[in-house]
Amino acid sequence: MKIKALKGFKDVIPGEVELWQYLEKVARDVFGRYQFSEIRLPVLEETALFARSIGEGTDIVEKEMYTFVDKQITMRPEATASLLRAYIEHGLGVQKPVQRLFTIGPMFRHERPQKGRLRQFHQLDAEIIGSASPRVDAELIAMAALLLAELQLSVSLELNSLGCPACRPAYRALLLEFIAARLDGLCDDCRRRSATNPLRVLDCKVPGCRERIVDAPAMAMHLCGDCADHFSGVQQALDLLGITYRLNKFMVRGLDYYCRTTFEFITTDLGAQAAVAAGGRYDGLVGLLGGPEQCPGIGFAMGMERLVLLLQQQPAPALPAAADLAIAAVGEEAVLLAFPLAQELRAAGFRVAMDHEGRSLKAQMKQADKSGAARALIIGATEVAAGYGLLRDLRGEGQQEVALNSAALADALL
Ligand code: ATP
Ligand code: MG
Repeated sequence: MKIKALKGFKDVIPGEVELWQYLEKVARDVFGRYQFSEIRLPVLEETALFARSIGEGTDIVEKEMYTFVDKQITMRPEATASLLRAYIEHGLGVQKPVQRLFTIGPMFRHERPQKGRLRQFHQLDAEIIGSASPRVDAELIAMAALLLAELQLSVSLELNSLGCPACRPAYRALLLEFIAARLDGLCDDCRRRSATNPLRVLDCKVPGCRERIVDAPAMAMHLCGDCADHFSGVQQALDLLGITYRLNKFMVRGLDYYCRTTFEFITTDLGAQAAVAAGGRYDGLVGLLGGPEQCPGIGFAMGMERLVLLLQQQPAPALPAAADLAIAAVGEEAVLLAFPLAQELRAAGFRVAMDHEGRSLKAQMKQADKSGAARALIIGATEVAAGYGLLRDLRGEGQQEVALNSAALADALL
């Protein structure tokens, strides 16, 4: 019986992997410009880490986690909790009061697979830990915006504030009252959520629910003085950087740890899977996980599958040629001369294609063309006798004779 990959788990094969590499390269470059350091984290953690940070009543913890029940360990469903666990464990805040960290890797959630939604998916994740400055929020958002712009993706930014433990309870009560009066028209999920987590009702995608709650009170209108100042500080800083955004009072996030600033980058090109990046502030979380109390933080995660889908919908970026040189050697003598030449050129830094199947010149040239090599070196019996090979430009017209030694070839390839 043929064994296939699990549902919702996907291979990234040659042909597509180049776009992933391109995406990662641009991301690392942009993150570096903002002085972020990479951190690599394990994919397995104690279940309690996620239950405590993301929240017991959230969709992720309630129904989406891959947990080994007998061992109380879980495949990470997101990166922030693990990153903060590492931040605390290694005392990274002592080394540097404000840490800028990014990580790239797979996350696991047991949800219904669809386009742009997998069970193993990948995120680019960036976090700034140790600063409460509203300018830090704006800077982090600006970094995400710049990355998306450099990828030439058109997205829009939505912004909200979720307040803090000082102002949210009063707002929550207000919202609860509003919802209680309209419970009849709401979906089952919303009715269930209204008691445990009424803010999530705002986030419901069911059209009927949306209509019932359009006039719901907005958290942003009920912030305490400190949160209101912070939120207007974020907006001023975004204005200063020329970042445009839309305030969205319905945006709440599916993770309990968020406070104050929350944001999403949205696309209209992926159907229901509209969020390509999402993030926000989590000022109490480091303390909650056993680190220093009063340690603020903010971060975002970008869904790489969704970014790749968007990249596939637009003209391909200029990717480097797959090989600098394809060697087409015909006949045993030519092959014995070409084989060590390929090794020397590779040692000198060139990407060289050569196969060992003894095929005809025509077949080898066809393969060289298909592989996207920039140039081909043709060596047959005549060339071996003369000590010169034919170097042919596969992207233009030209061809030249080059002495069959690696120094001469390296010169010709530069
Ligand atoms: P969604 O509303 O799409 O379920 P989410 O709120 O659960 O997203 P987050 O936990 O905030 O998402 O994750 C940040 C980003 O990771 C999302 O904006 C999305 O781009 C991506 N993402 C989340 N879940 C998946 C998934 N199952 N498959 C692919 N990408 C995902
Ligand atoms: Mg989700």
